[in-house]
Amino acid sequence: MRKPIFITRVKIGKAERQAIERVFDSGMIAQGAVAEKFEKEFAQFCGTKYAVAVSSGTAALNCACFAAGIKSGDEVITTPFTFIATANAPLLFGAKPVFADIKEETFNLDSERVEEKITKRTKAVITVDLFGQPADYRELRRIARKHRLVLIEDAAQAHGAKLEGKKTGALGHIGCFSFYATKNMTTGEGGMVVTDNKDYAQKARLFRQHGEAKKYDYVCLGFNYHTTDIATSIGRAQLRRLPRLNQRRIKNAQFYYDDLEGIKGLILPVVKKEVRHVFHQFTIRVTPDFKLNRDQFYEYLKRKNIFCGIYYPQSLHLYPHFKKLGYKKGDFPIAERVAKEVISLPVHPYLTQSELKYIVKVIKSI
Ligand SMILES: *Cc1c(COP(=O)(O)O)cnc(C)c1O
Repeated sequence: MRKPIFITRVKIGKAERQAIERVFDSGMIAQGAVAEKFEKEFAQFCGTKYAVAVSSGTAALNCACFAAGIKSGDEVITTPFTFIATANAPLLFGAKPVFADIKEETFNLDSERVEEKITKRTKAVITVDLFGQPADYRELRRIARKHRLVLIEDAAQAHGAKLEGKKTGALGHIGCFSFYATKNMTTGEGGMVVTDNKDYAQKARLFRQHGEAKKYDYVCLGFNYHTTDIATSIGRAQLRRLPRLNQRRIKNAQFYYDDLEGIKGLILPVVKKEVRHVFHQFTIRVTPDFKLNRDQFYEYLKRKNIFCGIYYPQSLHLYPHFKKLGYKKGDFPIAERVAKEVISLPVHPYLTQSELKYIVKVIKSI
């Protein structure tokens, strides 16, 4: 039996190890000068004026909602087909997450459905660049402008992706990233808020540190959402590696496009025009025309030592703390159906040719 192939693989290289050593030698391991350098480099990478490094992608989303002034009674439109942190962020501020259905081709928010959900209370839209593909910002920016909404971009899965030449993070008013271990680049745990808006950046900074403007001068609510120089030293090395890591993901995805296209009942991810998709996941849909249903397909691959992912097994509106806001089964038919069809094949940068060939062979044998 061959070695198992996992959905993700984390490798920490020499550059990261040396960077950590230097931080240890400096004696300053909390958030300091290294974090500040990482912020500058990451802002430059995204093409934004400001970047604020935080402890996680979740913290970044919370800071973004605070910066956007989201408060009790507001509504925030977002997608039900994402990681739960996206929709929890507005709840923290007493706002209601108002879900809008997705487009099945891209798994991203359907801008038409977004516009239908706008009311007098709508304050912001949180979009997600799911699986590494930017959402439909041309339309979403128009909607945000027309209705004076803050557009928050959850780019936790899309470091280095682009739309019309512009990088993720810079596609809305505030961008949020995660550097969790399995993302396209990592600091172990970590996150970043990026923006061109000075006021948003300042508010994110305040929220990161107990609302402290000057030493013991607390001007608003805040928490400890700091990162560390240890984590951000890894981040600086990873940022330099990111273009190559993304390249390999794209190449692996291309392998699947070349070899899996045209299998009846399997739908490969659609990449929109003008988009650079960075394939955080290669998520296919198993439809009723295929021999096996999604769960059988997953189990079959598992028996062949291929471990896939199900992102995501359920539309968020059906989890108890959203359901009690009045959502029910049938509210978002596309998200609900897609949740039963999706399976993500390994696409991480460390897959070998032989592993890719094996995965394709096993799938074709079905
Ligand atoms: C990973 C992720 C987050 C949360 O990031 P953490 O660093 O794990 O807190 C938020 N949104 C999306 C879409 C993610 O994939």
